[in-house]
Amino acid sequence: MTIEQLIYSLRDELNTHTYNYYVLDNATISDFEFDKKLKELEKLEKENPIFFDENSPTQRVGGTITKNFETITHKNRMYSLDNSYSKEDLFDWEKRIQKALGTSEIEYTCELKYDGASINLTFENGQFMKAVTRGDGFQGDDVTNNIKTIRSIPLSIKEDFVSNFEMRGEIILPLDGFNKMNEERVANNEEEYRNPRNTASGSLKLQDSAEVAKRPLDCLLYQVVTDERKYKTHFESLENARKVGFKVPDTIVLAKTIDKVFEFVNYWDAERHNLPYETDGIVIKVNNLQQQEELGFTSKAPRWAIAYKFKAEQVSTTLNEITYQVGRTGAITPVANLEPVQLAGTIVKRASLHNADQIEKLDIRINDTVFVEKGGEIIPKIIAVDFSKRPEYSNPTVYVTNCPECNTELIRSEGDAKHYCSNEFGCAPQITGRIKHFISRKAMDIDGLGGETVDLLRKEGLIKNYADLYDLTVEQIIPLERMAEKSAKNMIKGIQKSKEIPFEKVLFALGIRFVGETVAKKLAKHFKSINNLMIADFETLISVDEIGDRIAQSIIDFSTNELNIELVNRLKKYELQLEISAEKLENQTDKLQGNIFVVSGVFHQMSRNELKKAIEDNGGKVSSSISKKTNFVVAGDNMGPSKLTKAQDLGIQIISEQDFIDKIK
Ligand code: AMP
Ligand code: ZN
Repeated sequence: MTIEQLIYSLRDELNTHTYNYYVLDNATISDFEFDKKLKELEKLEKENPIFFDENSPTQRVGGTITKNFETITHKNRMYSLDNSYSKEDLFDWEKRIQKALGTSEIEYTCELKYDGASINLTFENGQFMKAVTRGDGFQGDDVTNNIKTIRSIPLSIKEDFVSNFEMRGEIILPLDGFNKMNEERVANNEEEYRNPRNTASGSLKLQDSAEVAKRPLDCLLYQVVTDERKYKTHFESLENARKVGFKVPDTIVLAKTIDKVFEFVNYWDAERHNLPYETDGIVIKVNNLQQQEELGFTSKAPRWAIAYKFKAEQVSTTLNEITYQVGRTGAITPVANLEPVQLAGTIVKRASLHNADQIEKLDIRINDTVFVEKGGEIIPKIIAVDFSKRPEYSNPTVYVTNCPECNTELIRSEGDAKHYCSNEFGCAPQITGRIKHFISRKAMDIDGLGGETVDLLRKEGLIKNYADLYDLTVEQIIPLERMAEKSAKNMIKGIQKSKEIPFEKVLFALGIRFVGETVAKKLAKHFKSINNLMIADFETLISVDEIGDRIAQSIIDFSTNELNIELVNRLKKYELQLEISAEKLENQTDKLQGNIFVVSGVFHQMSRNELKKAIEDNGGKVSSSISKKTNFVVAGDNMGPSKLTKAQDLGIQIISEQDFIDKIK
């Protein structure tokens, strides 16, 4: 055997053993023998670097350090799922899709909904290329090096499958492994992890991949995304994915009716407690891929799939104390501190009480026994007080009157559910919260600077507000705890780079109360610059589409405050984008004003998203489904037949990609 052949055969052999152990759960070699062969391969690869392969079994042990995870735009958006909670919901869903497809012959797949962190694995020519988290669905973090350490994920596919594809799945921590990790934490006097899901998703963002390799993570796959039309159904594509080495749970079944779907639901509602991992529901999908394509997506989720959530589990425990948290906008959130209790596989210690009304409604008091429930959200809810167990002497809860952080008297405006601390510029958590919001991904997206560093910079007195960030120097940062020259430089680079962030995001970053991402976009588009926005009066503000009294007043409060004016002037001086760029202005017209478009099919000159953006930039509106209000359907290749019929029936003008481009020229 030549050296090359030896290397290849060792890799194959090790891959097979790994597959047998981690996917089939059937060891075919002793750990000792495995390590021996792995060492041998390592040595050969080191001596013969021309045969290096990123996807060799030797690359799974980790050791790479990632300081900043690169943001990657998903080739295909990662959607969320619509939820259902009853059989009726499912029947409604069925009716909707039957109508859309014009047939009642629909087959479904039923799968468990694995509770972890979603991941997208890209393969090219059968080779694993990269792994990206879901992020906001449009873009996520490149966590390739960390994912490679998960042994049940095959890194190269030899057998017959599609060659370029994305595998979607869930990174989970099986309960056994999770409990072992916690036992170790307890032994080391460290705080226990709260639940498997958060721990799994936190593991993906560890900087040292060798640490990730030590965690017993697993990856369960549930979808193949590809342009290659090799398989006709979802079920078939998953069966084949399993055959070539992916861990696709075999709990998936086919169902021809919603009644059959419900049998699956009922079975797993009881049986799920015997699974080695957590599941919070099931996912029902239309099996036929052509039908999936026809159904398409809403702005959030596929129309061809729906999640069914199991009823939440409840436990009872005692309320020890109510504390109050101050958010970045000064909003106060009361928090119930509970006697720790086990709930749905995790330990619950705290629950949000939302606001004063909620406390009053529940009539919750210190030392009460309360029912706690965990729904889909991470934070558990308090459902009710068990009045039968109320101690004989107890006092109604009195809501705080002053800020727990700065002692300012709290205010509650009419119509507001929450109390606020108005000491915007003097209340520590507000100041820090605003800076953290400013640097966050959806705002200024500053690389190399995270929440903990903001705390540190504040503690050291280096920053008092977000404008101060732009005055920081490398020399100031290096002496700080856990900072090296490289990370200090990265941070400053990241801060400087944020000066290119477009106006709409800067506007969102300013942290004006009630001005979220979408509102910021609307305002940026309408006013075009911070100057125009800050001189706008109430009437002008509320005349803008979707801007109401509350938002208008909040903008005026912001714009008339001396300290904010000074901050904004400083940001101008540092040359942040405080107006829409000339280039963007140029691309924006009113040519499509008043027209509603539906986009369907595959396009060639621009992507679907670019097309939608062009519609909006030119004053048009994009809608996801055809109705009487639709003015134009822009049709690409393979437009869904049901959409086509509907457009024709309603007499809506169907135009091609080229027609559209001519329209906006
Ligand atoms: P949600 O985050 O509640 O909108 O639910 C959508 C998420 O469910 C997806 O991003 C997946 O990560 C996850 N999921 C878990 N199991 C499945 C499954 N069998 N099919 C599709 N998605 C799943
Ligand atoms: Zn305060």
